[in-house]
Amino acid sequence: MPTFSEVFRVSGGRIESLAALSAPARPLEDIFAAAERTPGLDAEDAASLIAWAREPERRAEIHTAAQRVREHVAPHTMEFVIPVYLTSFCENECLYCGYRQSNALAERVRLSLDEFSRELDLILSWGHRQIELVLSEDPEFGPEVLARYVELTRRKLDRLGGGVVGLCSPVYEREDYVRLAAAGLEWVVEWQETYHQSHFDRWHVTGSPKRDFEYRLDLWDRVIPAGIRKIALGALLGLYDWRYDVLAAIEHGNYLRRAYGLDPHAIGIPRLKPARGVLASQKPSRFTVSDDDYRLILSVYHLAFPRSRLFFNTRENYEMNISMVAAGDLFTVDCDTFPGGYLRHDTPGQFSTHGFPSRREVARVLAARGLKSLYLEAETPLPASEPSSTGAPHDILKWQEEHAKIRMALQDWQAILAGLVLHPGENLTDRQAALAALRMTLYFFKTYAIDHCRREENVLFRTFTARSDSTANLQAFRDEHERLGIDLDKFERQMASYQLSGDPSVLLTVGERTIRELNEHLAREEEFAARQSVD
Ligand code: SF4
Repeated sequence: MPTFSEVFRVSGGRIESLAALSAPARPLEDIFAAAERTPGLDAEDAASLIAWAREPERRAEIHTAAQRVREHVAPHTMEFVIPVYLTSFCENECLYCGYRQSNALAERVRLSLDEFSRELDLILSWGHRQIELVLSEDPEFGPEVLARYVELTRRKLDRLGGGVVGLCSPVYEREDYVRLAAAGLEWVVEWQETYHQSHFDRWHVTGSPKRDFEYRLDLWDRVIPAGIRKIALGALLGLYDWRYDVLAAIEHGNYLRRAYGLDPHAIGIPRLKPARGVLASQKPSRFTVSDDDYRLILSVYHLAFPRSRLFFNTRENYEMNISMVAAGDLFTVDCDTFPGGYLRHDTPGQFSTHGFPSRREVARVLAARGLKSLYLEAETPLPASEPSSTGAPHDILKWQEEHAKIRMALQDWQAILAGLVLHPGENLTDRQAALAALRMTLYFFKTYAIDHCRREENVLFRTFTARSDSTANLQAFRDEHERLGIDLDKFERQMASYQLSGDPSVLLTVGERTIRELNEHLAREEEFAARQSVD
């Protein structure tokens, strides 16, 4: 049996043509009947559905049929699942992700087994019994280390009467999945990101281990033979034309039916969302998926995979999810994308998420629709030894000392730029000397100053959040920190072009603006802190 990458090398062109289909090849009712009668739709029928949806009034029809088919075919359940991040160190450079290696604003944390155990206890006390372990490509967190976290989760769940351990991680070899299955892993979640190779290459910068497109495509050809038959596939919507990615994911699901006789356990429906310090994720592009198209995609997936769970997640708001969820799906209510984030609170994670009503309230709403919640048990008290949060004492004086140090570095930076005005760098020696000084300055801001911003957000800002009138200020300060990270990246890029051209004009503009804005930011923060102290 050929692997999926071998199949897709041939069928990729067919998917491209189907994505461009403008006139449906089959009547809508025939496609609905096929979805109900057969294990699911092929890419041809799904392409016809998408072509039908060019007529706006057909979209509601497709949505109603999708809900009806699921009512008939799927169990009347809703499975709760909670992601738990283990590490935010990453050696990849996925341009859409807050944890990409070069993002100076990302806080890097690797949970020890003890820290993880404490967080897991908290989550279990909330009643969760389906745990998705999530990790980035951290070289110090290979499959052997990971197996210990899987074993611990398995043991704790078994003690409570059972549950499910899932995993979303870098892709591994077949023998690694054998080891993880032996440790208690039951299902694996992995998105191809985009099935379009040239766009995949654009989003995953040279040097990233993740850039191996075909190795990723063949993941399930290693996972399933390793004995793990519950798999979740999908694409990150917004990296390429969604029609192509949705049809390719359906093609992938049909390959698994033919090759291994199984339906995907779940289908990923993540849509690209803004991430902190990630410019590419914040700008709309020609691939941005509108709400209306997103709803259509969910209905197409519901019909194409009538027995698989769509993985509803907190990238979307509650109203979107609750209106689109159908019988037999997966639902996330509690979601923190930072390692240790359920204990720490308030630390920006991999991407932005929405707040939801409480898990009990969501379960009640689902029950009213006849959907029984699974993997959500009654809440139990947390063991007394659990810390409720980490954190340091509120220390305004230390904060001001750090500001003073940053101000001195800003003056040095300004002096180097003033030197560039006098000696713009036609002379190679002058240019190299200026660049060496600028590199040291940049290093200070990317390390000390960014660390300072994180400490402010994690510790000091938290002390002010009790005051309702401070929320807008604190959010503005966070946004300014984010802007600083992006400006430092821009300045670094301009240093590279100055090195080549010897023309410092853009470097001067970016640098002077950054210095001015940072000085203003420090003054605003201090004025705010002084006001809080007086109040
Ligand atoms: S998407 Fe995953 S692999 Fe890529 S940078 Fe983010 S955490 Fe790392």
